[in-house]
Amino acid sequence: MLIDTHCHINFPDKFPDVEQTIADARSVGVDRMMAVGCDPETSRAAVALADRYAEVYAIVGWHPTYTKDYVSGSLGEITEMLKHPKVVAMGEIGLDFHWDFSTPEEQMLALSEQLDLAVRLDTPLVFHCRDAYPALLDVLEARPIRPYLFHCFAGSIDDAKRAMALDCYFGVDGPISYKNAKALKEVVREVPLDRLVIETDSPYMPPEPFRGKSNQPAYVRYVNAALADSLGIDVEECSRITTENAMRFFRML
Ligand SMILES: [Zn+2]
Repeated sequence: MLIDTHCHINFPDKFPDVEQTIADARSVGVDRMMAVGCDPETSRAAVALADRYAEVYAIVGWHPTYTKDYVSGSLGEITEMLKHPKVVAMGEIGLDFHWDFSTPEEQMLALSEQLDLAVRLDTPLVFHCRDAYPALLDVLEARPIRPYLFHCFAGSIDDAKRAMALDCYFGVDGPISYKNAKALKEVVREVPLDRLVIETDSPYMPPEPFRGKSNQPAYVRYVNAALADSLGIDVEECSRITTENAMRFFRML
């Protein structure tokens, strides 16, 4: 059994035949997949898929690059969605200083209000972070430790060490399979085994041999194989460990 802990099958333009996408994943042993929202509309779509398909769970929240439209106190709908039994975390939230669709101030406001809400509802949190690890870690270090997962972790060893001190989980994606992934491989060897989960971030981040093509949840097995290789463990052991980690983080045990 494999779990794709982060995919965007809730983006209808990227997955026009989502039923087939889910069936393809299932047929290769991907029994669960988390559809991740980036704003209320895509979060609603993730919840709708979770309602329709037993294999799908939802993660809901405001992605940092979508926070241009975010106004203080506008988490009512997200709050309602978080009460749904198949909504397993808030996300993807965080900071992204790579793109400038929204200012750091707009991103910070949405981040801190969502962090407060997660405390109130006791919800695990899934972070998106790009070119902003020190800033995000500063925010988290100033707060009490919560269940945190850095999706598609791409920070340095130093960032990873700060995240480990917060007992964070680390999402590993397609880039672990790339030849030039030396730094990332060093990071995954540094992280405790019981804090690693696998994900596709599909349709983005395709693993080898699909680089340059569209990604899908079925390909999480290639991520698992590349992670197993980086860790020097066998593929079955890696799927068992990462599945158990995901179930623990998302409180499905
Ligand atoms: Zn994502």
